[in-house]
Amino acid sequence: MAVVTEQTVREIEVENPATGEIVGRVPDLGPEQVADLARAARAAQPGWEALGYEGRGRVLRRAQKWVVDNVDRVIETIVSETGKAYEDALVAEVMYGANALGFWAKQAPRYLADERIRSASPLLKGKRMALRYRPIGLVGVIGPWNYPLTNSFGDCVPALAAGNAVILKPSEITPLTSLLLADALRECGVPEGVFSVATGRGETGAALVDAVDMIMFTGSTATGRKVMARAAETLTPVSLELGGKDPLIVLADADLERAANSAVYYAMLNGGQTCISVERVYVEAPVYDEFVAKVTEKARALRNERPAGPGTTDVGAITFSPQVDVIERHVDDARAKGAQVVVGGARGHDGLGGHWYEPTVLVGVDHTMDIMREETFGPTLPIMRVADAEQAIRLANDSPYGLGAAVFSKDAARGEAVARRIDAGAVCVNDSNVNYTALELPMGGVKASGLGSRHGAGGIRKYTRQQALLISRLHPRKDVHMYPYTAKMTAVLGKLTRVLYGRGKRA
Ligand code: NDP
Repeated sequence: MAVVTEQTVREIEVENPATGEIVGRVPDLGPEQVADLARAARAAQPGWEALGYEGRGRVLRRAQKWVVDNVDRVIETIVSETGKAYEDALVAEVMYGANALGFWAKQAPRYLADERIRSASPLLKGKRMALRYRPIGLVGVIGPWNYPLTNSFGDCVPALAAGNAVILKPSEITPLTSLLLADALRECGVPEGVFSVATGRGETGAALVDAVDMIMFTGSTATGRKVMARAAETLTPVSLELGGKDPLIVLADADLERAANSAVYYAMLNGGQTCISVERVYVEAPVYDEFVAKVTEKARALRNERPAGPGTTDVGAITFSPQVDVIERHVDDARAKGAQVVVGGARGHDGLGGHWYEPTVLVGVDHTMDIMREETFGPTLPIMRVADAEQAIRLANDSPYGLGAAVFSKDAARGEAVARRIDAGAVCVNDSNVNYTALELPMGGVKASGLGSRHGAGGIRKYTRQQALLISRLHPRKDVHMYPYTAKMTAVLGKLTRVLYGRGKRA
């Protein structure tokens, strides 16, 4: 439902990052066009809200069925603009999106039901209190290029389920999936104006911040800061899911086969372009050599080819061409400071077109190297030997980021004890990343990784305004604390204060 008006003069070319071919063109909307979309959205929102949970749920469930019925088309679109493997699009995007449409249709009424509140205040005896969640109105979602369905469209679903209108600003690199899903929603009964896509660049995103009642942003920490600063001008609430440098810790008693499979898979999944990618690994000294040997063998076996349908590659292209420079800079910096590259370590596919970097494993790394400190966002797996769990925890926390983390140990209780000491929004034990698929579990970062969370009750309540209700049914004509103030009544209230709150000890 992107609006292409006569004012649209600028266009953005969409490239297939695996081939370099141009696969589409979309309008680059300016601030006036974003304002037009916002006006249409605000006009349409009350009708959408009035449909109620059941009416909206029906539409979202229809959209769920649409995604499944059109799975090939959705995957082809995602792969054409991201260059990712077919399976990455299926598992981490289509399955997520289909699940989310059904989940929020079902759970919105439960998470947003009125809550009955009881108060211990003696002044409130006999009064009914409730907390109510109302849709905030118009939500703006600004998405990145790594998961055009999951991270962009996925965040629109709870906002719609709550009764809001939504404008999605996809990354200029990957707008086609959002446009396809906008068509799908319209076909499934979402009224005109309720969901629209504002294609464009950073300035379009900035204009969106000015036009909406709430912003959900996923992307880099640097841009997240800009979004928050801009939103501060209009006191617009923000939820920010930003960068990460997720550590994976392997304790000496870990199931090394599972730890190595998990490290390789969750570092290379989606070409490492995942906010919760495994970005660095710490291994207790006694099992370091064996772990490195296993990882090396598994990483060497990975195919890094152009995606050409199911089962044709393991690791796809680098979606955002400047990212190749970042990956190369991190690997070269590590090499220059003494690290050894045991797998990969170069741009791949010379002459084939597109943007590539080989699946890469490094050892002999330390925290003087960018690859252990900055978000690499590529298919890299640096592994560091540590003396013990204490050093692993210290190094895991030695980061400006705090999005996700993982700990491997056959002793789940010990693994959990280590997990609880890591400064991250989510930590898995003997697992990694799959917490993202639990839509019941909050997912969000601490430190420079963000503010707020998606999923769970908080993941939909953030798209609402709270309204506190207090209803007094039985009451005297005048409450005791009301005017006129008298010495007698003040003495009674003073005594009541001592009885209610004065029984504790000061020591
Ligand atoms: P950005 O954070 O710049 O982009 C995210 C979204 O914000 C895009 O839609 C972008 O539009 C938009 N945007 C850019 N500038 C503004 C602005 N001033 N106001 C509002 N919206 C804006 O990410 P990049 O694509 O530049 O990637 C940079 C780095 O971010 C990567 O190297 C990676 O480290 C990290 N990243 C993290 C992600 C995560 O999931 N946490 C996802 C993607 C990247 P447009 O794309 O059109 O410029």
